[in-house]
Amino acid sequence: MRYISTRGQAPAVSFIDAVLAGMAPDGGLYVPESWPALGAWVREAGIREYASVASVVLQAFAGADLTPKELHTISTRAYGADSRFDTPAVTPLIQLGANHWLLDLARGPSLAFKDIAMQLIAPLYDCALERHDRRLTVVCATSGDTGGAAVEALKRSDRVDLFVLLPKGRVSEVQRRFMTASGGQNVYAVEVAGDFDDCQAIVKSLFADRTFAANAQLSGVNSINWARIVAQSVYFLRTASALCGPGAVDFVVPSGNFGDAFAGHVAKQIGAQIGRIGLATNANDILPRTLQTGRYERAARSHATLSPAMDIQVASNFERLVFEATGRDGSTTASLFQSLSQSGGFDVPDAALAIMRREFAGVASSDERTAQVIAEIHAEYGALICPHTAVGFASFGDEPAWFDHPTVFLATAHPAKFPETVEAATGVKPSLPAHCADLFDRAERIDTLPNDTEAVKRFIQERSRAWS
Ligand SMILES: *Cc1c(COP(=O)(O)O)cnc(C)c1O
Repeated sequence: MRYISTRGQAPAVSFIDAVLAGMAPDGGLYVPESWPALGAWVREAGIREYASVASVVLQAFAGADLTPKELHTISTRAYGADSRFDTPAVTPLIQLGANHWLLDLARGPSLAFKDIAMQLIAPLYDCALERHDRRLTVVCATSGDTGGAAVEALKRSDRVDLFVLLPKGRVSEVQRRFMTASGGQNVYAVEVAGDFDDCQAIVKSLFADRTFAANAQLSGVNSINWARIVAQSVYFLRTASALCGPGAVDFVVPSGNFGDAFAGHVAKQIGAQIGRIGLATNANDILPRTLQTGRYERAARSHATLSPAMDIQVASNFERLVFEATGRDGSTTASLFQSLSQSGGFDVPDAALAIMRREFAGVASSDERTAQVIAEIHAEYGALICPHTAVGFASFGDEPAWFDHPTVFLATAHPAKFPETVEAATGVKPSLPAHCADLFDRAERIDTLPNDTEAVKRFIQERSRAWS
């Protein structure tokens, strides 16, 4: 399987190269040259073990890049009996009502759904780096949860040094501690005086400096990384297959960078019976606004909300949907995203917008409604949910049209990651699971840098063991 850029100006590369590079050299994102078909096997995915479904999906996207033995090792390390998920189901499905369900994606080491992809990326990197006897410098910008998941996954990878940029004062204490108190010697948590979009902009300029990127052997694990999308498509596929009767299954996805929701689209492309995907956002509503008005436009500033992992102005993976919905037209996609960087927005072509609206709906919810929903779900089901998960229910929980089919709400983080918000809404303080109960007793290590690419470059150059 070869990977091409959404902007049509970069050479096609292999799966491993697409994963290690993160972004294509023309500024686009990698997508597969064509969609693999999994065929009738998809129907059985719901009754197979998680690791074996992941192995089949990974094989479909990696093609000849990974041997059967490597596929087995990677998927077993990520999701098998000795995995770091605290349940063999990996992503347990909980029935809430006649036609609606909660998919618990927060059972991994850093208590957020980002663990599911990161736990796969770590053995995948190890495998690729060992093969070529290489080291990597991995950088990632985080709105809170990607960083912790990357740290937990990569802190034991000897060939990787990890630099996480987090927005100062914009992540919860539990989120921060997952980045600063891992004990990993190859891990650097760097607070940047700015918001998530500033951190993301710095990471983009690190990659844009080709010399720096080559010297540092730079790689990114942000949600644009193709391996993350592949890994996340597994639970959509497996869940749709488990619940699917004669019709399709709908999903409600708390959304920020549009990686998770796009993974749902990918699962559908490879044969999962998925109907519509609801994009639930907080006040940072670029996705619902785009679906409503047809104009993709960044806001002046991101709003700080109760669901900080979704405090994002620009949904990076949306570029992949634009590429798909324009009939995989790289030159149109390139010119639309050039106007985004030059003038802050673009109009989605009408035909593409119609295609998007058939598959996706978008609703934004306020903090006030989100807090109410945390209380309502607790009162009705006795369950504590995190504020991001609550945005899903706040946005789509009252829309009867969504319950014609089985509807699955994704629970994207553990409530104990946001204890103040959950306790304020319910009066109950969620406790940390046993595997990380000592989080507040561990020593923290963190550096603070100005919102300045050059300062970040110096910091990395001085520390990275991959530097050449
Ligand atoms: C990252 C994150 C999201 C948003 O996911 P995207 O793939 O960026 O759309 C939602 N909820 C939580 C808890 C997250 O960490």
